[in-house]
Amino acid sequence: MARIGFVGLGNMGGPMLLNLLKAGHQVSAFDLVESALARAKQAGASVAESAANTAKDAEFFISMLPASRHVEGLYLTPDAEGKTLLDRVPKSTVVIDCSTISPQSARKVAEAAHARGIAMLDAPVSGGTAGAEKGTLTFIVGGDANVLERGRPILEKMGANIFHAGAQGAGQVAKICNNMLLAIHMTGTAEALALGVANGLDPGVLSEIMKRSSGGNWSLNVYNPYPGVMDGVPASRGYSGGFLVDLMIKDLGLAMDAADGTDMAIPMGALARNLYRLLKKQENAGALDFSSIQKLYTKDV
Ligand code: NAD
Repeated sequence: MARIGFVGLGNMGGPMLLNLLKAGHQVSAFDLVESALARAKQAGASVAESAANTAKDAEFFISMLPASRHVEGLYLTPDAEGKTLLDRVPKSTVVIDCSTISPQSARKVAEAAHARGIAMLDAPVSGGTAGAEKGTLTFIVGGDANVLERGRPILEKMGANIFHAGAQGAGQVAKICNNMLLAIHMTGTAEALALGVANGLDPGVLSEIMKRSSGGNWSLNVYNPYPGVMDGVPASRGYSGGFLVDLMIKDLGLAMDAADGTDMAIPMGALARNLYRLLKKQENAGALDFSSIQKLYTKDV
């Protein structure tokens, strides 16, 4: 079994770590939040005093942080002794960043790792918190194919699908495209459900009809945004947990940056981003799950 350092024990990292422990790996964990550390400790992880301490002796080092600035801060910021985390990772370690960040940041951190002789992958995930809990995430990997083969046995303990998207940063590009599409079909799903309800339909009945018709999509199938239609999803627990509106706005910003960099028009992605910004402002929804977009259309959900 492998020795693994794991940093970032939030909505995704917390359950991912549990699956590594269940598989019998030795995990040294770190997060800035005490309660997240306590949960990891209770589940059997050893808890480190700093991110650098989790990296000592690690055969694999995994990070699951919110955004580019956190990832660059973790790997590239020198400590009091002038050393970065990458200076403290053993040369034989495979470093895997699972956060969704800009392809540019992913390449910058990987280049710094490579300059020290350390192998690194960008491996953002899809599948939500339920996928993280069940160990059925999709990993979308950028980097060297041989390094992916070294990391695959570890990723397989947390995910059911592992795709090699291409060179360093390609995992992030694919993830950004996926999340732009997710925002668009979640918003469209909420709009269609609101229209049906306003015209007298039951949201559960309408959902079943659309799931089996040409409007069927992932948001309807596994993440229905209308409260009470589906058990175990954020919409049925006050939009708590799940994938935060703030993180979706971040991902749609990454899509805008990618479009700007390639002179691409992404009108649907831009509209979805503006709708999420409105949701955040009007409903104070930054810390709610992204399916709370239903609130823009339906009063009192
Ligand atoms: P989260 O905010 O729940 O968790 C992030 C964790 O990182 C927090 O516990 C925070 O304390 C910790 N952290 C931040 N900076 C740190 C540092 N310097 N050192 C140690 N810990 C630090 O976020 P999440 O929902 O787990 O998402 C993580 C990443 O996964 C994001 O990039 C997100 O876009 C992506 N993602 C999320 C989902 C989802 O459904 N939640 C799905 C796919 C991808």
